[in-house]
Amino acid sequence: MCGITGYIGYREAYPIVIKGLERLEYRGYDSAGIMMFDGQSIHISKTKGKVSDLKEITEKEEYRTKGSIGIGHTRWATHGVPNDVNSHPHSSMSGDLVMVHNGIIENYDTLKKELTNRGYTFQSDTDTEVLVNLIEEVKKKENCKLGKAVQLALTNVIGAYAIAVFDKTKPNEIVVA
Ligand code: GLU
Repeated sequence: MCGITGYIGYREAYPIVIKGLERLEYRGYDSAGIMMFDGQSIHISKTKGKVSDLKEITEKEEYRTKGSIGIGHTRWATHGVPNDVNSHPHSSMSGDLVMVHNGIIENYDTLKKELTNRGYTFQSDTDTEVLVNLIEEVKKKENCKLGKAVQLALTNVIGAYAIAVFDKTKPNEIVVA
């Protein structure tokens, strides 16, 4: 079973998010990932493997650990094989939104077709990447804040899920549902 951790505040987020992932390891997972926001840029590190592998990759480049906003994920693959690309976090096409997700979006295929018709392209095979782009599409169309866009997007979703979403253009919150 997968897990989500996140931190937003005044402290360094990286050790807190990693510690959270380590505490979730007992649940079982196949991949791990983290997004850090350093105040200007988003840095995503992710890998098939263990949290210790993720730490090795991330800590090789110190800038990847910087910032006081972070979200982390341990994945148990349901849509798309366990590999680096399918690991979470996933970004929206614009790169503004970053999301981690536990669970399943049952109608992801229909939603993916609709988004593809509107010009969206996808890097991974996950249902997660479909949802983060649906949120982006709703946010653009309705010209609303992230929280509202998440609420509206989820009215179109069938499934069981927990999500945490970050928006680079309004970097003072993590929206969870
Ligand atoms: N359905 C998502 C995926 O396959 C999330 C799986 C999970 O809960 O870790 O990537």
